[in-house]
Amino acid sequence: MPKLRVEMKIEKVTMELPDTKTLQLKWPEGYDVNFLSGQFITVWWPHHPKYKRAYSLSSCALDRGRFEITVKREGKMGTSIVDWAEKGDVLGVIEPTGKFLPVFEPPGRHLICIAGGSGVTPFRGFLREATQRKLDTRITVLYTVRTTNDIIFNDEFLQLEKENPNFNFLVTCTRLTDEDPWGGRRGRIDADWIKHNIDDMANTIFYACGPNGLVEMAESLAKDELGAVKDQVVLEKWG
Ligand SMILES: Cc1cc2nc3c(=O)[nH]c(=O)nc-3n(C[C@H](O)[C@H](O)[C@H](O)COP(=O)(O)OP(=O)(O)OC[C@H]3O[C@@H](n4cnc5c(N)ncnc54)[C@H](O)[C@@H]3O)c2cc1C
Repeated sequence: MPKLRVEMKIEKVTMELPDTKTLQLKWPEGYDVNFLSGQFITVWWPHHPKYKRAYSLSSCALDRGRFEITVKREGKMGTSIVDWAEKGDVLGVIEPTGKFLPVFEPPGRHLICIAGGSGVTPFRGFLREATQRKLDTRITVLYTVRTTNDIIFNDEFLQLEKENPNFNFLVTCTRLTDEDPWGGRRGRIDADWIKHNIDDMANTIFYACGPNGLVEMAESLAKDELGAVKDQVVLEKWG
């Protein structure tokens, strides 16, 4: 069946960082679709209908009535959204699709979510759903950013960490000066850091999302260095 295409009004915009904006898109009257956390929607500007781009939902499947996407100022569509999209504007939206899905069943899995920069967006959906449903699924977000000023959803993830005893939010910064007071990890994501956060390999599933370079690096660490098999690695490449 063809995917549903509708126009949605932007009901709220939030600047997460100077270059990253979350849009809240209000479902029109009578809109009622089934979708899953981790999926993406495809959007376009009504005055430019041929130019469509995918955005992961940063909201979750329990957040009905609106979709949230979180966009970085990157390329043509990313820049137009971050620089121009405002409350009251309208975007075309193709309903959610995609296979980047959290494995919540069977219970007891450990999801290792590897993200760089804006690639963290779908993991907010994973976390919101697991926390609201009080699932026992363990979720560890291993997040690489340049500096502490580049952490998207920092406050929300720290709050979710308090609410959800099965969630760990770990950040590594790659470009801090030696004088910076950051007490957390520094340097790139590597196999040792991931390994340190795994205690039951058979029940672990690795996720990686974002620009191709980061996702391919994560895939190679999980498969070649940690011995994960195909079904234990779920990837979403943005290009
Ligand atoms: C399934 C899927 C989900 C996506 N979800 C998001 C999301 O949640 N948030 C988001 O900001 N973008 C997301 N993207 C990327 C988004 O679709 C656009 O590609 C991005 O906004 C750039 O706009 P553009 O394609 O018009 O850029 P163009 O002018 O066509 O240039 C694209 C260039 O930007 C690079 N690029 C694209 N996105 C990023 C990024 N975020 N960081 C670094 N490099 C990038 C590409 O490798 C390419 O070189 C997603 C892409 C896919 C396929």
